[in-house]
This record gives sequence, structure tokens and C-alpha cells, in this order.
Amino acid sequence: MAPGATDMRAPLATMAARRPTDVPAIELTGLSKRFQTAEGTVQAIERVTFAVASGDFVCLVGPSGCGKSTLLNIIAGLLPASAGEVRICGEPGGSVRPDRIGYVFQRDALLPWKTALQNVMLPLLLRGVPPAESRETARHWVHKVGLAGFEHHYPSQLSGGMRKRIALAMTMVYRPSIILMDEPFAALDVQTRNLMENELLALWAETGSAILFVTHDLEEAIALADRIVVLTAAPARVRCEYPVPLERPRDVAEIRTTSAFLDIYRHIWRDLREEVAASHGRR
Ligand code: ADP
Ligand code: MG
Repeated sequence: MAPGATDMRAPLATMAARRPTDVPAIELTGLSKRFQTAEGTVQAIERVTFAVASGDFVCLVGPSGCGKSTLLNIIAGLLPASAGEVRICGEPGGSVRPDRIGYVFQRDALLPWKTALQNVMLPLLLRGVPPAESRETARHWVHKVGLAGFEHHYPSQLSGGMRKRIALAMTMVYRPSIILMDEPFAALDVQTRNLMENELLALWAETGSAILFVTHDLEEAIALADRIVVLTAAPARVRCEYPVPLERPRDVAEIRTTSAFLDIYRHIWRDLREEVAASHGRR
């Protein structure tokens, strides 16, 4: 292995044993974003402040168009903020090593001319991991996401759910401490989506990454999260934060039928409903 490189094949037990630190994985302070357009200035995000503790699963919910994707792009370092501060594991956002952060989009970012295995190898090869080691680690992750036997299939030969599994493997394979997910399962049918949500929870429990998961679906947010941050209609501000004190491990389909789930849902929906109504009123 190259000097200084991380051993991607370290046993998962070591990863699970990674201790949470007091330094938040993500810390946003007074974050604002304005876009200059031909029609003038669009205020997309206004003084957003919240933190995601290391190893936590936080869902960000808010009406469509409120600024959720913009916020993730700023955290990922793909867009500059207009004001405020992003800290990633205590470091200023701009100076963070890219392998700290994984990003899963709604549309999968698989290369159609590469096989499932080659797609999962790619992030490792790009980080300088030798080919033989990349192949072995990628194969391990393809198996972990339940696609043993599909290593040599191309994305066009896989179902939407399978492509999503590969996208997850491509993110988990380099073991980022933070994973940003932007409505990753929105395009899947309900059954596949439930399966994927359960798989995600299982992988997260093993890897100990902090996850910031964006969704406009409050049920999905409650089923997955430790904590929910509700954003206002555009421009996005933090309306409120809620803990989700439901037991783990969870089965996302089963947990939706419990009275504790429904209580939390009713409570948060009171807030979110006003923001959804406001976002419609503005169109
Ligand atoms: P969401 O993900 O919550 O649906 P977005 O973050 O995509 O919302 O968009 C928030 C607002 O910012 C929208 O009004 C959108 O039109 C605007 N916006 C996003 N990107 C740009 C851009 N590059 N230029 C101008 N306006 C933008
Ligand atoms: Mg979006």
C-alpha cells in the first residue's frame, strides 16, 4: 500500500468502534446564499445555523424549491456561500479533503460504459489506490450492497434499485466521515424504497459515518433520522429541530405503523404544513 494511504479493507468492526468526538461532523453558522440572476438577486438561504454530530443521522426537510440542494452543495464545497461559515469536522469548509465527504444524488451518477464493479472501483482509483486493491475492496462493497453476481453487469442492465445500491457502494467504498444524500430514493417505487432505506440504515450502523439526508417526505425523514431539521419555504431558514426518539435498529415499514411514529409525525407536520402552504402561496 502507498505510504500514508488508508487501508480501505480495514475490518468493519474497527469502523464501528470509531468513537464519536465532540467536534461536530458538520457545523453551519449563519449560512446565507444569494444568486445573481438576470432578473435580480434571489435569496436562496438565510442565516442557517445547525450542526450534525459525528455519527449522527440527520434529515433535512422542507418544501420543494426551498433551498435544500443549494445547502448540500455549499456543504460539499461545490458552491461558495454568500455569508456565514461551514465547518467540516472542525475544519473550514473550503480546505476539507474531498475523501471526507460522500455525496449521493437523486439521479445516479454511474458511468454507463463501465460495469458495476468498475464503477465502484473508480473512486478508489481516483484516490490513488492500486488497481488490484481497488478491485478487491470494490468487490467487497458490491457484495455488501447485495449485488454479488452482478459485478460485470452494465448500469443499463440493472434495475433502478440496483443502480442505487451501486451508487451507495461507490460512496461507502472510500469510507467518508460524512455522507450527504439529496432525495436519493425519490424515484424508486415504495417497496424498493423501503428496502433501500433499511439497507442504508444497516450500512450506516456499521460504518459510523454522519449522514445529512435531504427529503421532502416527512415519513421517510422520521423513519430514518435521529434528528430532523425543518426548513422554511424559500428562502430557507431553520424553522425548528426535532429529536426522533425511536428505537434502533428500525424496520422503516414497520416503524411507520407504531403510535410513537404517528405522534412524532403529527407534531412535526403542524410546522411543515405551514411552510408547504407558504411555498405554494408564493408560486
Ligand atoms: P430544493 O432543493 O429545496 O428543491 P434548490 O436548492 O434547488 O431547492 O433551489 C432553491 C432556490 O434557489 C430556488 O428558487 C432555485 O430556483 C434557486 N436556485 C438554485 N440554484 C440557482 C442558480 N444556480 N441560480 C439562480 N437560482 C438558483
Ligand atoms: Mg433539491
